[in-house]
Amino acid sequence: MVDANLPKQFLRLLKPRLPEMLGVLRQFVNAESPSLEKAAADHCCGVIADEWWKRDVRVERIAQKHRGDFLRVTHSSDQGNSSGQLFVLGHYDTVYATGTLAKMPFRISGGKAYGPGTFDMKAGIVQALFALQALKQSNVRLQKRIVFLWTSDEEIGSEASRKLIETEARRSDAVFVLEPSFGPRGLLKTARKGVGSAELVVHGRASHAGLAPQEGINAIHELARQIALIETWNDLRRGVTINSDIIEGGTRTNVIAERARAVFDLRALTISDMRKLERRLHALRPIHKGAHLKISGGFDRPPLERKVSATLFARAKSLAKQMKVSLGECTVGGGSDGNLTGALGVPTLDGLGAVGNGAHSSREHVLINTMPARAALLAALLASC
Ligand SMILES: [Zn+2]
Repeated sequence: MVDANLPKQFLRLLKPRLPEMLGVLRQFVNAESPSLEKAAADHCCGVIADEWWKRDVRVERIAQKHRGDFLRVTHSSDQGNSSGQLFVLGHYDTVYATGTLAKMPFRISGGKAYGPGTFDMKAGIVQALFALQALKQSNVRLQKRIVFLWTSDEEIGSEASRKLIETEARRSDAVFVLEPSFGPRGLLKTARKGVGSAELVVHGRASHAGLAPQEGINAIHELARQIALIETWNDLRRGVTINSDIIEGGTRTNVIAERARAVFDLRALTISDMRKLERRLHALRPIHKGAHLKISGGFDRPPLERKVSATLFARAKSLAKQMKVSLGECTVGGGSDGNLTGALGVPTLDGLGAVGNGAHSSREHVLINTMPARAALLAALLASC
């Protein structure tokens, strides 16, 4: 067990570091890193790598063909013989195209640091960097190896990074995800809905709407009936939602529509509800005789169930209390890479990053005074797990 004063010790070390933390955040934000612009993202990757190199840890740049390169940083106590692994996970890509800085520059005002990607989630990377620095300075003997992974495609679904995230998670005893926390009190995200998308294409038979209606099979009518049925699967109490995002069909007036299509957003809070929703979708059968249905898609990110976060959250809460910080938790409807690690059954704590607001908007900011305590909390978790 770890010294009860440790979180306070880390906080004492980190508080005076705030100006330095903000300097690093400024550099990270000034290196724009949209998920879909590899050259810009690679540049940002280099800027982030330099900061970790300066802290004298092992930094590997994992080259990517179409996305920004990933960074893997490894640290273990000098004394060696650490067994097991702790995994700190996050992404440096943002949803803002290059050039956004011109309208939305990095600036500090009223205790907030504004700029694209400050909150989601470059301040989280800064906090992890300074957590590591505090661990090294305080000479705490780590029980486990720590692996930090910074990816570049979380905002677009983590297709390129998923395998690597899952491989590292399987080797780990716990995963700490530095996605933004929720609300002004900085709630951790101990449950996240699973997220998916499905497409339903209906094929009917075209015919003249006036001369031969009996020969046609209207794909729009069929789709409308299917959607009316699908809508009844919504169960807000259980956290199950299915939303029609897009609907289209038909070609022109006077023609019985031969084809219609809908795209659905799928969400569920538990793995069993996720499976049930997928089963129901694939069990849809035509209501109009002669119509054909083609169903594709499903969940991309499974739910992060609370039971996977509970133990780590309890530990985080008690460590925060030692710094006189009261830590709360919440459930959110959106997914992150924490959903991927949690689905493997590896204890995962998400939303450990910055406190702020306005992700993915021109108001995006972090509350700067919270940064040292959040970094201290992460350091204490890494020292005690
Ligand atoms: Zn994020």
